[in-house]
Order: sequence, then C-alpha cells, then structure tokens
Amino acid sequence: MTEPQLTDLPLREELRGQEPYGAPQLSVPAMLNVNETTYQVPSDVVDAIAKEVRAAAETLNRYPDREFATLRTKLADYLSRESGALLTAEQIWAGNGSNEVMQHILQAFAGPGRSVMSFPPTYSMYPLYARGVYSSYIAGTRSPDFTQSAADVAAQIRQHRPHVVILCSPNNPTGTALDLEVVEAAYQAALESETMLIVDEAYGEFRQPGTPSALTLLEGRQRLIVTRTMSKAFALAGGRLGYLAAAPEVTDALRLVRLPYHLSAVTQAAACAALDHAEHLMANVERIKVQRDRIVAELTTMGLTPHPSDANFVFFGGLENAAEAWQHLLDDGILIREVGIEGHLRVTAGTEAETTEFLNSLQNYLNR
Ligand SMILES: *Cc1c(COP(=O)(O)O)cnc(C)c1O
Repeated sequence: MTEPQLTDLPLREELRGQEPYGAPQLSVPAMLNVNETTYQVPSDVVDAIAKEVRAAAETLNRYPDREFATLRTKLADYLSRESGALLTAEQIWAGNGSNEVMQHILQAFAGPGRSVMSFPPTYSMYPLYARGVYSSYIAGTRSPDFTQSAADVAAQIRQHRPHVVILCSPNNPTGTALDLEVVEAAYQAALESETMLIVDEAYGEFRQPGTPSALTLLEGRQRLIVTRTMSKAFALAGGRLGYLAAAPEVTDALRLVRLPYHLSAVTQAAACAALDHAEHLMANVERIKVQRDRIVAELTTMGLTPHPSDANFVFFGGLENAAEAWQHLLDDGILIREVGIEGHLRVTAGTEAETTEFLNSLQNYLNR
C-alpha cells in the first residue's frame, strides 16, 4: 500500500511542486539566521505583556476591537516619535506580521490579472505574496553591487507599469537603505500608471544615523505605503504584529479585504504593552547596531567584503565556498543564512558574546 501523498490532491495548478517558505528552525547555541533580536524580552516588558494579556483574557468571550483603535493610536505615536513625521491613527493599519499586512495590500491593489514588482536579491517572500493573490510577478534588476539608482528604478517602473512595486529599505538580504531620492523617483514613475508603491522598512529602526525614513515622504503622496514590523526592533517576532502607515483612504481600502477580527485581543494587548516600553526595547537596538558595525569592521579586516548595513544583519562576500563556510559555522553551533548568492552569506547581529563566537569561528575557518 502506498502512503497518501500531497500530489494525490486536486491542488491549484500553480502550487504543484512548489516549496513552502522554510528558513531552517534548528536549535543551536547561536541562532543568527532569521534576523530576530537575540536578546530575550526584558523582564519588565514580559511582566507588562502578561498583565495586559491577563486583562484581555477576562473578555475573551467577546470579539476583539475590529478597528484596534488603541493599538493604532500607540503605533501612530511611536512612528511619529521614531521618524519625525506627524502620523495619525487613521493612517495606521496592522496585521499578524507584516506578512499579513502585505497580503492585505496585494489583495486590495494587485490580485488576478495584475502584477507585482520587486528587485532581487530582496526579501524572498515577495514573489510568494504575489502568487498567493494570483498576481504575476516581475523581477526588476539592480546594479552588480546590488545598489539601486533613482533613474534606473524609475525607468524599470515606467517600462513594466506594475500595479504594485515593493522597495525594501534597508534591503534584505543586502542590508543597505535607499536614499529617499530613489523612493521619490519611484513614486513619480508610479504616478504615471495605476501603481501603488510600498517601501518595506522592516529594519527601519536599525538605519544609520542621519538616514531618514520614507515615512517622512507620506504627506501628499496618496499612493505610497510604508510597512514596518514589531518582529525585529521590538523583539516580538513571536507576537506577530506588522503594520503600515499610508494615507487614510489606503487604510479604508484595506478594510475591504481583511477578515473580520483578524487581530486577536491577545495580540492587541501584547503589542500595546510592548509599545508602552518602546524606549526600553530600543536600548537593545542600540547594542545590536554596535555589534553590526563591529561585524562590518572585523570582516573587512579578515579580507572579506561586507556590504554597508542599515539593518540588524550583515551581508558579506569574498568567500570561495559559502556552503562550506556555512557548515563550518554550524558545526561550531552558529546558524547563519545562505541566501543563494555565490560567495556570500548573511549573519544576524546578536549579542556581543554571539558576535564574538561568530567572528572567531569564521576566522578559524579562513585560517584552516
Ligand atoms: C523579517 C522581515 C519582515 C517581517 O515579517 P513579519 O511577518 O512582520 O515577521 C518583513 N520584511 C522583511 C524584508 C523582513 O526581512
């Protein structure tokens, strides 16, 4: 008797033979492969979350606030402080991770017969989001050093006229933030077709000093959306809270596609408690940036070629055999990321101790 198989099912044609998203979830001493904050949640924040979740538990017999008004106000206040842009609750939308927020955007503005464009190497989920809403996916191009110029991005948008364009800044996996002139040029090009422009700022809080956020461009730009997440800087990857800021009419559009009560009362309570402790959590962001800059400096000394990073990770090249280096690190208990670019790997900046272990192991590999 043969085992029942997935291939026996009447699956949608375009899903046959596809693989699900699958970064390895291995349990090793240093897990530096998915850009989480490796510091545990500070204990006073844990206490605050537990208290808010306990209070929410008393009314779990009722559906949660469908409009998550308290959370939106807190997110607007936080983003205004963080970016210097003045944002209101009506401009905020949230979901279970920026993954879901992105899905809402594509359900509203892409969908069947429409197209989504991003610029690889970039976040590997973008083509999957497009597939999930039956949209076609257009892979734009970058310069050989993986940077993007204003003129080139605008020209590619004018050529393809996609319905949704996703810029990732700081870009995953390369780590570098875009100059706002690139976003402005992309927006001008987007206005010439029926195009919404998304800037994914999942790593926004880690940008280098003096680098402005695309949030500062929102005023007067109805077709611009900036997405953020609590998964990285807020050390809340397990809490699943992603969000965006845009014109109020954009958030109205997203109400048309969300499932009712998509944000549980537990999620809303946990996110609100974390936002009340934003300043405390951002202290770890500063520590992580120090380790990030240290990794860039030390890899350069080792003769490798790290890319400038505005994120909580470093993308580096100069390896003769990236797969072998990756395995050497794993044998030492350090899990980093192979991103499918020859001679390159990506490492998350963790605690000082984790960073030291990573650098020592890599140096031993290079000396072998
Ligand atoms: C990690 C990451 C996200 C966050 O996804 P969540 O669903 O919010 O956890 C979004 N965009 C990029 C580019 C990322 O690397």
